[in-house]
Amino acid sequence: MQYTAIFLLSLLGVQVFTFVVWGLFLRLGLNWAKVPEITARKVVAATIVVVLLNNIVAAFALLTSWGSPALQIAAILGAFVITIIVPTVVVATTFKVSGWRAVQAWLPTLLSAVSGGLLVIFAYRPFIFETFVIPTNAMAPTIVGFHWQGTCPDCGAPTYCSPLEEGRFVHGPVNMICDNFHVTLSNSPEESVYGGDRIAVAKFLTPQRWDLAVFKYPQDPAVNYVKRVIGLPGEEVIIQDGGIWINGVRQQLPASLEGLEYVSEAEGHFALDLWGTSEKPALLGDDEYFVLGDFSALSYDSRFWERGVDGHNPYAVPKSHMLGVVTTTYWPKDRWRAHK
Ligand SMILES: [Zn+2]
Repeated sequence: MQYTAIFLLSLLGVQVFTFVVWGLFLRLGLNWAKVPEITARKVVAATIVVVLLNNIVAAFALLTSWGSPALQIAAILGAFVITIIVPTVVVATTFKVSGWRAVQAWLPTLLSAVSGGLLVIFAYRPFIFETFVIPTNAMAPTIVGFHWQGTCPDCGAPTYCSPLEEGRFVHGPVNMICDNFHVTLSNSPEESVYGGDRIAVAKFLTPQRWDLAVFKYPQDPAVNYVKRVIGLPGEEVIIQDGGIWINGVRQQLPASLEGLEYVSEAEGHFALDLWGTSEKPALLGDDEYFVLGDFSALSYDSRFWERGVDGHNPYAVPKSHMLGVVTTTYWPKDRWRAHK
């Protein structure tokens, strides 16, 4: 909860930075264009209007990135109008100058976009927060990717599964998982495809047990995965009787995972001996983590990995591959959730 608050405050911080820098560059531009009667009140008023409108367009562009092509074109046109035409009109009317002088006064504010971009690329994203869109459902129901929805036959809660690819559609039962972690075979998921959750990840946190972590997939570091951290450096992990045993002691699951049964036997095409069972316990090095998906029956996670990072156990995520801890699901709004 507190890190979700920090995430929201950090967004506010970026806003304040944008606001101050835009205002400063506008002040420079007004001097350069020799605009008479520049007052702080007018500069602040013009800055508020322009920055607010920019935010509306940015939010619209962000949230329509999976929308229709028509919406995307509207967003691009809107961005063009608002980033160029609106500021010059606002400057021209606020300071009662001609269009040309308004353009001249506006020009230096372009540098504020550059400084904002540099701040995000070199400071905010690597060290503070980064956002991701989730494609897959190994972490369902906690975090979902592209999915179908249904209704759980056991409890009536919403239930989720990955959409089958077109051409491969089989009219038969599919494995789904509901908000209470009931895994059921369903014949009738709704066939609309819903988009993946958008999550915020704190880059400055060290993962603790039960945290949701984003990391570089050990077998292909170009791909990012999100899973739940189960085993910490130096521990022995065994999955047994649906639960997690660390160094021989059964762990109490957090309340939010009530009903989750961890699977320690592979079925079907995943039939192989898994890591983290009583026959093949996972022993973690002093900079290694063991991670599992919440949709245990379908998650491809530490249990299955055959090839790890050089010098590390095959089932381990080395500390160097950890990217951060998930704090918040911030979109879509009905899936909003503070994880931490
Ligand atoms: Zn259920």
